[in-house]
Amino acid sequence: DDLGVLDNLVANTTFLMAQQSDRCALRKRRLSLSLPKPKNPQEATVQQFEWLCEQQPIGKRLFQQFLLTFDPQYIAVARFLEELSVWDYAEGEKRNIVQRRISKKLSQTCSRSFLTFLTGDEAEALERLSEENFEEVISTIKKATIEFLKGKPFSEYLHSPFYYKFLQWKEYEKQTISDKYFYEFRPLGKGGFGEVCAVQVKHTGQMYACKKLHKRCLKKKDGQRLALLEKQILEKVNSLFVVNLAYAYENKSHLCLVMDLMIGGDLKFHIYHLGTRGLRKDRIVYYSAQITCGIQHLHAMNIVYRDMKPENVLLDAKGQCRLSDLGLAVELPNGKTVFQKAGTTGYMAPEILKQEYYRTSVDWWALGCSIYEMVAARLPFKDFREKVHNTEVTRRTLEDSCKFEHKNFDHPTKDIIMRLLKRRTEYRLVTRLNSLCCRSGDDPRKHAFFKDINFHHLEAGLVKPPWVPKSNVVYAKDMSEFKDISEEEDVALDAKDEKFFKEFSTGAVPTRWQREMIESGVFDELNCFQRNGHGYEASKS
Ligand code: ADP
Ligand code: MG
Ligand code: MG
Repeated sequence: DDLGVLDNLVANTTFLMAQQSDRCALRKRRLSLSLPKPKNPQEATVQQFEWLCEQQPIGKRLFQQFLLTFDPQYIAVARFLEELSVWDYAEGEKRNIVQRRISKKLSQTCSRSFLTFLTGDEAEALERLSEENFEEVISTIKKATIEFLKGKPFSEYLHSPFYYKFLQWKEYEKQTISDKYFYEFRPLGKGGFGEVCAVQVKHTGQMYACKKLHKRCLKKKDGQRLALLEKQILEKVNSLFVVNLAYAYENKSHLCLVMDLMIGGDLKFHIYHLGTRGLRKDRIVYYSAQITCGIQHLHAMNIVYRDMKPENVLLDAKGQCRLSDLGLAVELPNGKTVFQKAGTTGYMAPEILKQEYYRTSVDWWALGCSIYEMVAARLPFKDFREKVHNTEVTRRTLEDSCKFEHKNFDHPTKDIIMRLLKRRTEYRLVTRLNSLCCRSGDDPRKHAFFKDINFHHLEAGLVKPPWVPKSNVVYAKDMSEFKDISEEEDVALDAKDEKFFKEFSTGAVPTRWQREMIESGVFDELNCFQRNGHGYEASKS
C-alpha cells in the first residue's frame, strides 16, 4: 500500500543520511563529555607490556605519545619503530625505498646513537648490515629495542600522566550501555529471534548493525545458551573476514549484539533479488576467496561455523565480504568431534545428515553448495523455493549426483564444487594442516578456480573488490517484510534468566570500542594534556 511505500522511503532516507553525518554537529553533541576518574588505579599495574602498550589500541597510542614527549632517546626509538612498521607493510618499490632509507640511517654513527642498549653481539650484527641480511639483522635489533622499552621506559610510563589517562579511558570503556547510547534506524534483516536494525552511536556518529534477540522468545525456544555462545565466539574472533562485535547489552525485552554494519546486504539478496539471478564470475571468485579465508580463520581457532550459506555472508561499503551469524558455531578443541544435527536444509553435509561424528569438514561442503548457488541461483539438491520435504533433500544429498545444467558453470568452477561436494570427507577438498598425507589439493586456495586471487594481498585487504555497493541504495528488502515478529507473552522470566542476561551484557568490546574512539576523533579531543586543565604537565618530573 501507498503508506507502506512512503514509510519505507522515509526510513531509507534517514538511514542513508545518517551515514553522511556532519563532523561539526557531532563535536557539539559531545562538548560536555569528559573522562571519569579511574576507580582502582593500582589494580591495572600488574598488566603486561604487550597487553598495555601493543594490544590495546588506546594503550598503544598513549605509550607512543609518552615516548615522543620527553627523552631524546625515547623519541628516536619511537621514530625508528614507526619506520620499521612502514617498511613491514610496504610493498614493491616503496618497500625498497624505505629499506634503503633505514639502511642509510643505520650506517651513520650519529643517527644511530639512540641504540645504546644493544649488546655486543647485536651491535656487531648491526655493523654487518647489508641488503642480503637486512631482514634478519633488523628483526634482531627490533627485538632488542622492544626489550629496552619494556625496562626503564615502561616503568616510567606507568608513573606518567599518560598511563593515568589510559586508566581513565578503561574506566570510561566500562560504562553501562543502554538503548540511549544509540539512534535507531530501519530494520535490515530478520533473524530467528528478532530483527537486525541499523543504529548509530550518538556521540561518535559510528554506524553499526544491532541484532536483537527477544528474551522471552529465546527462553521459549531454548536459545539462551546458544545466544551466549554466539556472543562469546564473535567477541573472540578478530578477522578481516568475520564481522566484529562492538557492544553486547540488554534492554527490557531484548539482548542486543552490536556489530559492524554491512551496508551492502547479504549475498542471498544479491543472488535472487537484484534483477538477473546469480552473480558474475569475478564476484563469485572474489567472495569465495574471502569466505575461504574466513572459514580458515575460524578453523584455526578450532571453531566450526556450521551455518555457511550466502544469506550469512554480508558485504561492507567497499564491497568486501565477511561471515556473520555465528549462532550455530561451536568451539571444538583439537581432536574433539560432535554429531549434533545443525545447519540449514540444503547446505548440510552427509556426515551431519547421517548423524556421524564430524568437525570442520562440514563447512567445506556448505561452501561447495554456496558456490553452486552463486552461479545457478538454486542449490545442488534443492531448487529455489521448491516445496520439498527435508527427508527428500536428505535422500538426494546422500544418493543423487550433482548436476551442472546452468550455462554459467565453467570447468574450474565445476571442478572446485565437485571436490567440495565429495560425500566421503577423506576425498573432500579441505584444509589439512600438519597432515601426513599431504597430497596436492590440501588447501582450497591452491585450486585453479582461485588462480587470479593473490591470497597474501587479500589477507591484507589489498585486493580491489570487483563490485562496490552504491551509496544511495539500501540493500535490504522493504521494511514491511520484517514485521509480524510474534511476541512470546506466555513465558515468564525468573532470577536465573536475569543472571544469564547479566552475563551476556558485557558492554563495549575493548579493542573495537577503542578503535571507534580513535577513528571518530573523540580520543584526540579528550586527550589534550595541556589544554584540559587537569593539572598535568607534559614535561618530565
Ligand atoms: P539469524 O541468526 O537469526 O539467522 P542473522 O545474524 O543471520 O540472524 O541476521 C539476519 C539477517 O539480518 C541477515 O541475513 C542479514 O540480512 C541481516 N544482518 C545481520 N547482520 C547484519 C550486519 N552486521 N549488517 C547488515 N545486515 C545484517
Ligand atoms: Mg542467519
Ligand atoms: Mg543464526
